[in-house]
This record gives sequence, C-alpha cells and structure tokens, in this order.
Amino acid sequence: MVSSEYERRIAARFATFDQDGNGSIDREDFSGAAKALLAEFGIAARSDRGQALYGGAEAFWQGMAGIADRDGDQRISREEFVNGAVKRLRDNPDGFAEIARPFLHAALALADPDGTGTASVTDTARLLGCLGVPQEVAEAAAATLDADGDGKVAEGDIVTAFARYFTVPE
Ligand code: CA
Ligand code: CA
Repeated sequence: MVSSEYERRIAARFATFDQDGNGSIDREDFSGAAKALLAEFGIAARSDRGQALYGGAEAFWQGMAGIADRDGDQRISREEFVNGAVKRLRDNPDGFAEIARPFLHAALALADPDGTGTASVTDTARLLGCLGVPQEVAEAAAATLDADGDGKVAEGDIVTAFARYFTVPE
C-alpha cells in the first residue's frame, strides 16, 4: 500500500536529485552539485580536491544510472526514479551509501583540509545543504550526528545520514 504522504516524500527526493529542475536526473545534476560545493567552500575546480569531487560525482551518477536508467538514455526520468530507484534504494540503503561514498568522501575533504576524517557541525550542514537537503533538515541532521557534542561529525556518520535521507521516508 502506497500512501500519498509517501509519494509526496518521494517527489521531494526526486526534486533534490534534479538539482537543475529540468524534470530528469542526469549527469549535469551531479556535476552541478559538485560545482555548488566547490563554490560554497571556495575550492578551485582544477585543484586536486576539485578533481576528486568531480570524479566522485561522476561515479555517483554512474551508480545511480546503473540502478535506475532502464532505457539507457542517460537520464533518470521521474517514472524510472519512482519505479526503479526508490524501491532498490529502500531495499538496499547500504548499497546506496557505497555508490555515494566516493563523492561524499571528496565533499568532506573540502571542509576538512587537514584530513582528519571529520567535519564541523556547521560545515556538515553546509555540505548537506549544497546537496539539496533542505536547510532546516540539514542543520538538524548535522546537530544530531554530533552525538557526543564535541562539534565534530565523522565521515561515516555523514554517509549514513545522507543515505537515510534518500532511502527511508521519515
Ligand atoms: Ca536535472
Ligand atoms: Ca532513462
């Protein structure tokens, strides 16, 4: 049984992935997210961290296309998202996390120049916000992830939160 509330949340997730709002999820949405992150953190695209981020974005797109682009037109339509991606992501949130991890690892590196494997709560909220997570949701999630209250969030926790947002309707 699919509730209308569930469908509403799925529509919101689709809109989050469809960053440029052209009605389909495609490679440009992922490279656009990378570009937004680089702008937010003031990192040059041609830098090592910039190139790593674009590489992660491409891998993320390829992973999503492998799951959902059934007709192979290099776009994930709304129907492909609802009928393919949503079910598979919901059934396998860990698989989604693995697809997203290289991108998130590279994104975290933007906020973690010393390579500590953590980001501040503030930067975590900025990261999630650049990825289309609504700002109030991003801020609440970042604060929740800092369970011990030291102001830092670990990479693994960011990956988990991201996967949960996209795969489990609240
Ligand atoms: Ca799009
Ligand atoms: Ca397609």
